[in-house]
Amino acid sequence: MDCLWCNAPNVEESEKKDCYWIMPDGKRSIKILQIPAINCPECGIYVSDYMNQKVDEALSIHDLSEYPEKFTYDQLLLAPVKQLFNWK
Ligand SMILES: [Zn+2]
Repeated sequence: MDCLWCNAPNVEESEKKDCYWIMPDGKRSIKILQIPAINCPECGIYVSDYMNQKVDEALSIHDLSEYPEKFTYDQLLLAPVKQLFNWK
């Protein structure tokens, strides 16, 4: 794929990056480790908009109340899914 920022060819989503993140409800800030990131020789290592969106989605779908302040992207995807329709 091309770099999303500078269009350099042949960049790969081959790196991992640790990022601070605000939970969708804005109440908690967390650190997500090892998010898949793009490695561009010009721009450096960064998380794509697509991956940003995936993380936001995952944060709103999964129940992270039992999680510590720091966890990996893989752990995020393994968290229990919220039971949206059982809320009273
Ligand atoms: Zn670039």
